Amino acid sequence: MEKVTSEVRMKEKKRIALVAHDNMKRDMLEWAMFNKSVLSRHELFATGTTGGLLSEALSLYIHRFKSGPLGGDQQIGAKVAEGEIDVVVFFWDPLEPHPHDVDVKALLRIAVVYNIPIACNRASADFIISSHLMNETYDRIAVDYDR
Ligand code: PGA
Repeated sequence: MEKVTSEVRMKEKKRIALVAHDNMKRDMLEWAMFNKSVLSRHELFATGTTGGLLSEALSLYIHRFKSGPLGGDQQIGAKVAEGEIDVVVFFWDPLEPHPHDVDVKALLRIAVVYNIPIACNRASADFIISSHLMNETYDRIAVDYDR
């Protein structure tokens, strides 16, 4: 069956969600510090603990959701579904199970559904943050499920 798609415009200023599991928070901090000047040009969101650490380290304002295990991943997923998040950097822990593994999977899934760029490790995050598309408008194609 033919898919009906539509384009969703991302502005130059991106709305970036940052999430890191406990074992990955050091990676996230190092990555964010290194990329502070780029991140400072965008609007930042994060799960509770990640956001607390990052806002302190970067001295940047970050909209904080609940902690991941308490629903923060789902809040970010809902924002993606509403078209209110453009990019997700999600350093999930590949070596340990978590009580909210289903929420992790749900966020990964919803990012794919809405064709959002999502980086799950530092190399991917480096490639995304250094893309010229971070500074330009971009029309992302998404399946239009309403139609
Ligand atoms: P946290 O949540 O930033 O509150 O630690 C991250 C997560 O576990 O998904």
